[in-house]
Amino acid sequence: MMSSPTIVLGTRNKKKGREIALLIAPPWEPHPRLTRLITRTLDEWPDLPDIVEDAPTFAGNARKKAAETAQAVGLWVLADDSGLSVDALGGEPGVFSARYAGTHGDDDANNRLVLDKMAIVPDDQRGAAFVCALALADPSGTIRLESAGQCRGQLTKDLRGVGGFGYDPLFLIPEYHRTFGELSSLVKSQLSHRARAFAQFRIGLDRLILADAFAR
Ligand code: IMP
Repeated sequence: MMSSPTIVLGTRNKKKGREIALLIAPPWEPHPRLTRLITRTLDEWPDLPDIVEDAPTFAGNARKKAAETAQAVGLWVLADDSGLSVDALGGEPGVFSARYAGTHGDDDANNRLVLDKMAIVPDDQRGAAFVCALALADPSGTIRLESAGQCRGQLTKDLRGVGGFGYDPLFLIPEYHRTFGELSSLVKSQLSHRARAFAQFRIGLDRLILADAFAR
């Protein structure tokens, strides 16, 4: 009997990992063979060293994280590299989103720095985009699937809401008059950069599963 396709979610960011685990589940009634996807997390490999994210693009970092982690654990790995790109800051924080203020993962400090830099920027120039790049590597480290998604919004002048993670409390979705920090996770899971990248990704993943790529 064919074994279940297994993918390791290559992130140590718990909140991002929860979003990914939900988004990778197909939103439609799946083909019987597609329900067997098993996802595992990096919690099972606590000693694995962090991958150095030094590529100049989200896509480059996603590929690097997926390939190096897959080679280290000997399994298929899905990596997400994502972040905020602010028009008035020439695309910053960009690939430095997780460590914009200096310490990796310090969301409060990162948010304060963005708000400070944007303090005198008028309302009509506060456009920004969340960007997400996904890469799936097979156990040899070869990239077998990639996708990307974007979500545009406006930066607020102070933090609003406690939902989500990272820059969510300052990212306003104009149509909803609310930030991702204020909107429910259900709404974010329909609109976000990650949701858009996954909608595309899932089609390619299903093709790989049906072609028995995971069995080889
Ligand atoms: P990565 O783990 O290197 O991809 O870093 C992603 C960083 O970008 C996070 O630490 C957040 O600061 C930011 N980010 C990515 N996706 C989101 C999101 O959905 N909401 C808010 N911030 C995000």
